[in-house]
Amino acid sequence: MTRSIGAHTIDNGGIHMAVLRAGNAGMTALQVFTAIPRFYGDKSTIKPERVARFKTALAKTRIKPANVVVHAAYVLSVATPDDEKWERASAGLTKELERSSALGVGSVCFHPGSAGTGDRATSAKRIAKAIVKALESIDSSTRLLVENTAGAGKTMGKTAQEVGEILSHVPKSLRARTGYGLDTCHLFSSGYDITKSKQAFTAVLDEFESATGEPPSFFHLNDSEGELGSNRDRHVLIGDGLIGKQPFEWLIQDDRSKGIPLILETPQQNYDIAADDDSPDPYDLKMMKLLL
Ligand SMILES: [Zn+2]
Ligand SMILES: [Zn+2]
Repeated sequence: MTRSIGAHTIDNGGIHMAVLRAGNAGMTALQVFTAIPRFYGDKSTIKPERVARFKTALAKTRIKPANVVVHAAYVLSVATPDDEKWERASAGLTKELERSSALGVGSVCFHPGSAGTGDRATSAKRIAKAIVKALESIDSSTRLLVENTAGAGKTMGKTAQEVGEILSHVPKSLRARTGYGLDTCHLFSSGYDITKSKQAFTAVLDEFESATGEPPSFFHLNDSEGELGSNRDRHVLIGDGLIGKQPFEWLIQDDRSKGIPLILETPQQNYDIAADDDSPDPYDLKMMKLLL
């Protein structure tokens, strides 16, 4: 089965080192951050030297730029009813699309954030507004993708209907430049039982496809420490959580996992790897072996 599998590898030493670690693990997909994910990053422009190092490293691997995903900062809550916060988060999202476009990657994924005290329908429109603003500001082929969420509190993007609703507010002319991706841990913790049977698993993908009008553009492959419907966003190694190995086999067998990045966001063994050490993480190697 030819599938593009990779991981969000550690970037100690720079994003080009994350690329080399992924390449040395035999990966054909990859996810990175372009800025510190705890900050808005709305002012941080990517330096040409950094772009050059990234591209040189990528050329040494079997990872196509289209199969590289940039994960936007977690703090970019464009779902918020607060105007000031929305402006800043929206600016951060636009800036992320700018950095990622400079890197020439296939897509940026982001968590839409929390509706807070606002209602969900208005929040869906505000998320779409931020997507539109980013796409109109940055002319590129890098797509901006909504990630489904574990659904804690007022978090948006919890159901197929909600992801569909967000995307439905994007005008047709820009619609091809956006889409969504699915995280297996988030699906399970938000209440989609993908473990029951292959049919049940397929039905969940069908539900997202019919609510949005398209198949997912990436998958995050994570087992879940939290129970079904727990809304807990805690990733564990595949086989160590409550999803178990089998649903991942069903995913690999489904045609919708073909031709898109499949990214592990599972724990790493060496978070403190030396900046100049480009060896792959042993846990990633274990996961790759299990999936391929
Ligand atoms: Zn994820
Ligand atoms: Zn998560």
